[in-house]
Amino acid sequence: METTVLKKIWLSPPHMGGNEETYVKEAFDTNWIAPLGPNVQHFEKSIENFIGNNVYAACLSSGTGAIHLGLELLGVGPEDEVICQSFTFAASANPITYLGATPIFVDSENETWNISPELLEEAINDRLSKGIRPKAIVAVHLYGMPYKVDEVHAVAKKYGIPIVEDSAEALGSSYRGFNCGSFGDYGILSFNGNKIITTSGGGALLCNDQESKEKAVFLATQARDNAPHYQHSKIGYNYRMSNILAGIGRGQMEVLNDRVEARRRNYSFYNEHLSDLQEIEFLQEPDGSYSNRWLTCILTPSFEIREKLRLALEAENIESRPLWKPMHLQPVFEKNVSFVNGVSEDLFNRGLCLPSGSSLEVEDLERICGIIKNELK
Ligand SMILES: *Cc1c(COP(=O)(O)O)cnc(C)c1O
Repeated sequence: METTVLKKIWLSPPHMGGNEETYVKEAFDTNWIAPLGPNVQHFEKSIENFIGNNVYAACLSSGTGAIHLGLELLGVGPEDEVICQSFTFAASANPITYLGATPIFVDSENETWNISPELLEEAINDRLSKGIRPKAIVAVHLYGMPYKVDEVHAVAKKYGIPIVEDSAEALGSSYRGFNCGSFGDYGILSFNGNKIITTSGGGALLCNDQESKEKAVFLATQARDNAPHYQHSKIGYNYRMSNILAGIGRGQMEVLNDRVEARRRNYSFYNEHLSDLQEIEFLQEPDGSYSNRWLTCILTPSFEIREKLRLALEAENIESRPLWKPMHLQPVFEKNVSFVNGVSEDLFNRGLCLPSGSSLEVEDLERICGIIKNELK
């Protein structure tokens, strides 16, 4: 008996542009395999040119490492509290604990699914009333949708608390004409395998001046003092990006605009083909926001229907995934102070990320929509 294997459709697979191998080969040909080298410098320059707004980029081994360094450069240390968007991937919060500090979680608003400015202010006032001044805020442009930058930054400014802007999912997104990653005291990007562009693994810290970048690179290369021998006055990390991986990044930057367009096309396709189903809701772009639509997410009427769709897709060899489980609901953070309004828990229960890779073909999208329509008939 013959069984046909349905073509696997992944949630968000890597998508090379073509020139990546040229830059990697260049590194081999010049024996520039070890950390640093021309690919890193070129990759950083192309990120800086793309983001604009006078940012300085330091390429690192991961986005998580970038958040860690950003928080450390803001002076976060043991005993401190850091406010973090609850609706996110754990990598937004974990680095807070690496520094011995404690994350305090704040829930989302419904328009962008990101940190609620009202609840943020409530959280700050509560901590201040207890004699604690939060040391920093981690705000996230989740799924590529910019958070309410004006409102969130106005609250942060009012209380003088710096922001680490987690743009891991938002390279290519913008808010009122400025690119995501350029708003915070520090911004971070990720080039993990599932992101809009990838170096197989990697990240960047975006800084507002050259001096901050130099401090970040110093910490990322084991905090070596200026001496002929190895001398250290501070604890450092091994967080720098390798010249090989930066070669992949250089090639990926050349196709970034195409990747954003392709992901936005996916969103439009789903929106067009599923919008006659009353049960399915989409996240809209508020005025002034431009999302890279890293992942297209839908909201279903209930957890049961969400699961029914997810399992039906899985049975057809198609990967989809529930939305991020909020940090305040994670076992590891269950004792942390949280400011909750029910928004992210509801999104987690009812939401599903659909396959969103930039290499998806129209037949793939039709297949996915067909299965969803069939299940909801
Ligand atoms: C991917 C991601 C990170 C971490 O990036 P890595 O490069 O995987 O360490 C941080 N925050 C968010 C929201 C992410 O999606």
